Amino acid sequence: MSQTIKAGYRIMSPNLTDYDSLYHSFNWQNEAVNLEGLPANKGLNIAYEAVDRWAKGDDAQRIALRWIRKDRSYQDYTFSGLQQLSARFANILTTLGIMKGDRVFSLTGRIPELYIAALGTLKTTAVFCPLFSVFGPEPVFQRLSRGDAKVLITTSALFEKKIKPLMERLPALRYILLTDGSLPLDARVLSLPRLMEEAGKDFLIPPTDPEDPALLHFTSGTTGMPKGALHVHKAVLMHYVTGKYVLDFHKGDVFWCTADPGWVTGTSYGILAPLVCGVTNLIDEEEFDAMRWYSLLEEHQVNVWYTSPTAIRRLMRMDILPMKQFTLQPLRLICSVGEPLHGDAVLWGEKAFGMPILDNWWQTETGGIMIANYRSMKVKPGSMGKPLPGIEAAVAEITKDGVQIISEPGKQGQLVLKSGWPSMFRNYLHDEERYAQCFQNGWYITGDLAKTDADGYYWFVGRADDIIKTSGHMVGPFEVETALMEHVAVAEAAVIGKPDPLIGELVKAFIVLKRGIRGDENMKQEMIGFSRKKLGPAVAPKEIDFINELPKTKSGKILRRLLRARELGLPEGDISTLEKSG
Ligand code: ATP
Ligand code: MG
Repeated sequence: MSQTIKAGYRIMSPNLTDYDSLYHSFNWQNEAVNLEGLPANKGLNIAYEAVDRWAKGDDAQRIALRWIRKDRSYQDYTFSGLQQLSARFANILTTLGIMKGDRVFSLTGRIPELYIAALGTLKTTAVFCPLFSVFGPEPVFQRLSRGDAKVLITTSALFEKKIKPLMERLPALRYILLTDGSLPLDARVLSLPRLMEEAGKDFLIPPTDPEDPALLHFTSGTTGMPKGALHVHKAVLMHYVTGKYVLDFHKGDVFWCTADPGWVTGTSYGILAPLVCGVTNLIDEEEFDAMRWYSLLEEHQVNVWYTSPTAIRRLMRMDILPMKQFTLQPLRLICSVGEPLHGDAVLWGEKAFGMPILDNWWQTETGGIMIANYRSMKVKPGSMGKPLPGIEAAVAEITKDGVQIISEPGKQGQLVLKSGWPSMFRNYLHDEERYAQCFQNGWYITGDLAKTDADGYYWFVGRADDIIKTSGHMVGPFEVETALMEHVAVAEAAVIGKPDPLIGELVKAFIVLKRGIRGDENMKQEMIGFSRKKLGPAVAPKEIDFINELPKTKSGKILRRLLRARELGLPEGDISTLEKSG
């Protein structure tokens, strides 16, 4: 905790120069004036802020999206081009009778049609819901039916494989638009290219109330059945503010967010925030590949890169020296989200890229980054950073009497956020009761545990559901995992509580060893000894299993509940988001 990295690496003055002073003077109204609003005071629409306002003026010919195909050739879309394409898509929906609030889904890889459909849907005030294309038919069915999908955009291949068998079970799904079909298959399955050709290129965005629903996102399903979180057009203010202060967008920047739009990061930051801030957004159609990623950073002169701890860990395991092998001078900021970023990964950033990797924390429900490290602020490796200006966060104990804020540093509790920020989710799909339970005394209860330190930095402890109660201690798996990861032989670790008649739960660790290292009894004893020294006997794991791979969600999060269920021989629960479940 005591280690710090000095601020100010890499030139180019950051937008946020003094955290404390901005935090204290911040006011949402002052930031809202940087958005334009619909002409003639007709409200606030995300797509207008992302595309149309740039397409009107000097920025019309700037590159909004650069789409890199699997074969590495690429195609650019200017703000003006994107305005016309999204307008055509909006006209298609209108002609098909899609109304305000209706749900439009996508199930595609990262292809331009997905981005055009997202923006076009937002223009009409229908609600957009992108699905991750690797979901199997059942998870797709669950989401389409729970989400009352009226329109689905997909490819012919995905249609044949996943949608066709579901057609009869989805009577409310009125239209399927095939991105690569040249002719309609029937009255329900239409050709998107054909419709785009026929549609007009002008579309007048209807009046949009900032509280009108805009996006539906399903959570990752790490702790249970994925929940559908509903977001509104006002979220665009958060996209703007976090783009400016966390991702530090400057005019002329090239930005790359590696998340798929099927997860909230891939929409809020993989589509919207860069466009809202007027910077060029890179989209890679291909999945993770270390050499490809480094060479894309080089070739496209990426300035700001947003990725995940899972990807960073994979890069760390390879013998590649990015700064030696690639020219990465333009890169000035790397951020990470989705899971805890251990201190060693932050420091690896220094070695590999000449800058620490900046962790930030948020959830599907929050719609945007809530706690972050900033370029101008000292980094404490392993900490999530400090609340975004405009966001009030706290650590609290939740009792029958409500939310009791814990002000002493070092004491862990529930991470809570003062409700009312612009991108706060406005409901859980079909589950208002659960939504209501997330709020108490004006605070949103995140379900994560955290603590602060004397300097006001936040430290992730674990998910409330994953907390282990052992011999009267509350142990966060993150703390134990972090200690284990410090052992040179450990590549990854996940820790669970296993019921024990004597001590409540015993701490059990699942460890993936680095390549070439054998997980035998000696190694087990070595690990137990090592962690006892670091953590003390009460917290150190008492049982260790070596496994080849940790079960993870498709978005890269460790599924501790699955390790626990398997360990105890219990039902596995919803595994629709499990990496290998297809
Ligand atoms: P579900 O709610 O369905 O169980 P999920 O919580 O994993 O799934 P997301 O909304 O995608 O779904 O993920 C948000 C969660 O990811 C956070 O609540 C937190 O537990 C974890 N997370 C995100 N960023 C960080 C971070 N920087 N450090 C630690 N944990 C993080
Ligand atoms: Mg969650």
